[in-house]
Amino acid sequence: MTSLRHPAPQAAPSGASPLARWLTGPRFAGMPVLSEDLAPPLLSFEFFPPRTEALEQQLWACIRRLEPLAPHFVSVTYGAGGSTQARTHATVARIVKETTLTPAAHLTCVGASRGEVDDVARQYWDAGIRHIVALRGDMPGGVAYEPHPQGYAYATDLVAGLRKIADFEISVAAYPEIHPTATSPLADLDNLKRKLDAGATRAITNYFFDNATFLRFLDLALAAGITAPIVPGIMPVSNYTQMVKFSQVSGVKVPPWLGRFFEGVEEDMETRRMIAAHVAAEQVRTLQANGIDEFHFYTLNRPDLTYAIAHILGVRPKTEG
Ligand SMILES: Cc1cc2nc3c(=O)[nH]c(=O)nc-3n(C[C@H](O)[C@H](O)[C@H](O)COP(=O)(O)OP(=O)(O)OC[C@H]3O[C@@H](n4cnc5c(N)ncnc54)[C@H](O)[C@@H]3O)c2cc1C
Repeated sequence: MTSLRHPAPQAAPSGASPLARWLTGPRFAGMPVLSEDLAPPLLSFEFFPPRTEALEQQLWACIRRLEPLAPHFVSVTYGAGGSTQARTHATVARIVKETTLTPAAHLTCVGASRGEVDDVARQYWDAGIRHIVALRGDMPGGVAYEPHPQGYAYATDLVAGLRKIADFEISVAAYPEIHPTATSPLADLDNLKRKLDAGATRAITNYFFDNATFLRFLDLALAAGITAPIVPGIMPVSNYTQMVKFSQVSGVKVPPWLGRFFEGVEEDMETRRMIAAHVAAEQVRTLQANGIDEFHFYTLNRPDLTYAIAHILGVRPKTEG
């Protein structure tokens, strides 16, 4: 495979943080093409723990298909409630045992005391998991969030608690379009900074479709003194209707142009998947043209779109030469 390198940042001060490097690096100047001067980006992939045997097989087919791409890490989400939490643990533990991948286990504050959450974190550590995505989480059934009386109230508290347990690498969530319950954009950015100051080393964003919103968010984050990488979360969308419903809850704006792309192909899955690949590839390439060199893919346990987009980005199976 051709060796690819990222263009040297033009004005980045030496020793600059990743965020400063992205923002002082090349700005949009046409789509990047595979060349000697462009390094493939770092990728991470997110999975959810399966509920049934059939879904378990789908997840593992997905993991096996994406494994040769040697992602930076793969993460597994965490639900509210005992059985889904056990599935997260089982999945990350199996990833450690049976694959070459580095797993990150999601962990939330919802519905558990500090002691219970700490126990889960210790079990992760004992199973060889060294990276946690620390989240507040949401209440089941869409009810307004209430901290557990003996629990970690917010993600910041969880990050601080995890720091005391073991030397975990910790990632946290960020919201380019603002968390739905944040009182203001500034309060939300302050919250992100507190999570990073408490010991997280990376933020992963909720998915978004408007790159300008994300890039403005990076500018604001840097102005707020954040230096850790803020990795864009990319959602390749093939089920448009489902995504619109989900976006309403999570405060993600769905631009009208995206709706027009999917008009009239509701019953035509193959065309929808082609459109999805095009939309996501264009999104990541535009971000790459703006200096972003890390991406987190919400795979929904389906590998093909992520695999195709990774390929376009120059990320190829390790075995290929
Ligand atoms: C990358 C990513 C992965 C995710 N994975 C999961 C998962 O595996 N399982 C899951 O259930 N959910 C997951 N979520 C969803 C997440 O749990 C929800 O978005 C949740 O509503 C917020 O979690 P948080 O960690 O961002 O919360 P926090 O950072 O704690 O913030 C939540 C809200 O509370 C506000 N806030 C923070 N501190 C205070 C305070 N002291 N007083 C008052 N308000 C405050 C913030 O401004 C914000 O509006 C994920 C989200 C992302 C982006």
